[in-house]
Amino acid sequence: MAKKIVSDLNVSGKKVLIRVDFNVPMKNGVITDDTRIRAALPTIEYVINHGGKAIVFSHLGRVKEAADITKNDITPVAKRLEELIKKPVKFVNATRGAELEEAAKNLGEGEILMFANTRNEDFDVALNKEVKRESKNDAELGKYWASLGDVFVNDAFGTAHRAAASNVGIAANVSETAAGFLLEKEIKFIGGAVDEPKRPYVAILGGSKVSDKIGVIEALIEKADKILVGGAMMFTFLKALGKNIGASRCEEDKLDLAKDLLAKANGKIVLPVDAVVNKAFEDTLGTAKSVDAFDQDDMGLDIGPKTLELFASELAGAKTVVWNGPMGVFEMKNYAAGTVGVCELLAKLTTEGAATIIGGGDSAAAAEQLGYASKVSHISTGGGASLEYLEGKTLPGIACVDEK
Ligand code: ADP
Ligand code: MG
Repeated sequence: MAKKIVSDLNVSGKKVLIRVDFNVPMKNGVITDDTRIRAALPTIEYVINHGGKAIVFSHLGRVKEAADITKNDITPVAKRLEELIKKPVKFVNATRGAELEEAAKNLGEGEILMFANTRNEDFDVALNKEVKRESKNDAELGKYWASLGDVFVNDAFGTAHRAAASNVGIAANVSETAAGFLLEKEIKFIGGAVDEPKRPYVAILGGSKVSDKIGVIEALIEKADKILVGGAMMFTFLKALGKNIGASRCEEDKLDLAKDLLAKANGKIVLPVDAVVNKAFEDTLGTAKSVDAFDQDDMGLDIGPKTLELFASELAGAKTVVWNGPMGVFEMKNYAAGTVGVCELLAKLTTEGAATIIGGGDSAAAAEQLGYASKVSHISTGGGASLEYLEGKTLPGIACVDEK
C-alpha cells in the first residue's frame, strides 16, 4: 500500500487545506520550542512553490472551557510561521465564519492563510459547554472545513491515532487527500517496521511502566526477533522472575502479566543483567550491581555497563531497530549513561545501513536533547500515535489518506 503524498497532487491554482501539528510548547504566550513549526515547512513550501493556495491549521493544547481559548491562542504560532517561511501569513482568528470564508476565497496562488486553534471548536461559547466538535469528529464541522478548500493534505502525525474533524472529517468531504512529507516519513519508517521489517528486527523498550506498553510488547512479541528491555519496566519483569529488586520502581499488580508476556515471548525478551542503583531517587553517584545482588534499599535507576554490552551484542547486525522508552532516569546526569549508550548503538547501526527508529515521547526528547536527532533514521513526532502505530493498529489519520 502506497499512500498519496503531497508531491503527487496537482496543487496549482488549488486551495490546499493543510492540517499540520503546530502543538508547540508555550509559556505565557511565548513559544519555547518551534521545532514542530520548522518541521512543517517543507510541506507548506511545496504547496506554495507549486502555485497552490495554502490554508494551514492545527490544534494547540486542549480546549475544555472558555478560558482555554485565550490560553491556547495560536496567534504567536502564525507569527512565527511567517518569520520562518519568510512570506506573509494571513491569520484569521476564527475557526469559521464570513471573514474566514472570504479570506479562503480571495487567497492567491502561493499565498498562505492560517486560521485559529481547531480545538476552539471543542467548546461552544454560546452554549458555554464542552462539545468536542473537533475532537469527536462532528460531521458538520469536517464538511464545513472541507468547503473552504479543494484538496486536503494531512501532515499531523501526533493526532493521527484519533479521528477528528480536522483529519478524517475533512478527508471524507474532499476529492483528494494526501500525506504531507512528515506523515510520509512516519509511514515509511514506522509503517515499514510494522509491515515489512528488514531482519533481524530488534526492539528496545524502556520507560516507566509495563502497563503503558502492553499492546506494543504483545505486538513486538509477534513481529520482532528480539525485545531488549530497560527502564523502570525492567524491574517488574525481573521481580516476576523472582529476583530481589530492592526499592526499585515496580508495578506489583502487573507481575502476573509480566510472567505471561515472558512465557509468550519464548526467549525473545532480553532482560538486563546489571543496573546502576542508588539509595534514593536523587542525582548522586550510583553503583553498578548485578541484578542478582540487590540490597533491600537499592533503587535501580539505569541499566548497567554489562547490560549495555549485552544489548550491543544482541543488536549486532540488526537491520531494523525500534526504540521506545528511556533506559533509565536520563533526566539525572548520573543515570543517563544507559540511554546515551543506546543512542550510540543506534547511531552506529544507522551508519551500517540499519533503519533506526525512535518511537516518540520521552525517548524522542532524550535523543534530541542528547544530540542524536540526525544520527538515527527517524525520530517520530508522535508519542501516543507512534505507540499505537507500532502496535499495528490502523490510525484514522493515515487511513483517511488516499492510496496512490
Ligand atoms: P516514552 O515517553 O519514551 O514512552 P515513558 O513515558 O514510558 O517513555 O517513560 C519515561 C520516564 O521513565 C522518564 O521520565 C524516566 O525518568 C523514567 N524512568 C526510566 N527508567 C527509570 C527507572 N529505572 N526508575 C524510575 N523511572 C525511570
Ligand atoms: Mg512519556
